[in-house]
Amino acid sequence: MRCLRCGGEYQMRRGTLVLKDKFIGDYEVHAVEYFECEGCDRFLFPEQTARKIEQRREEVKRHLISHRPIREFITASEAADILGISRQALHKHRRIRRGFIYSIELGGRILYNLKSVLKFRECGDGRFPLIRQSDEEQDDTYALITEGSEQVLPEYKIQRTGPTAF
Ligand SMILES: [Zn+2]
Repeated sequence: MRCLRCGGEYQMRRGTLVLKDKFIGDYEVHAVEYFECEGCDRFLFPEQTARKIEQRREEVKRHLISHRPIREFITASEAADILGISRQALHKHRRIRRGFIYSIELGGRILYNLKSVLKFRECGDGRFPLIRQSDEEQDDTYALITEGSEQVLPEYKIQRTGPTAF
């Protein structure tokens, strides 16, 4: 398989990937297969690896959200009031369910992060960085392998060595 960017050959590798995400920072995925272009250091992820990356990303995100101070969270009624919708509409909202507002579960109730609710009201996306941003961002692009076609995953940044997120 040849790289679309530089024409180099992809080499299959297995090991630990350290990925960067603008919301959760660095995180690691262990023992996964991936392809690396020998010419330009571009990466391709087989579908199974992409799924593992996604799972790990969700895990780290939940961990980071749940470790924020409890005073940052409000009840569903309060969140619904701020958004001007009913509680039922809040619980059913597809984007909110998909994580566009940060939430935690506590004693069987869902609590919403206030800053995230306000940001969501403003622009429809309540996500914000859960870690301090570093300036040493690398401008690489990554792709997911699906039946021979390449699909760019712009949210991911990657490096192969580096510190562990937690
Ligand atoms: Zn290449």
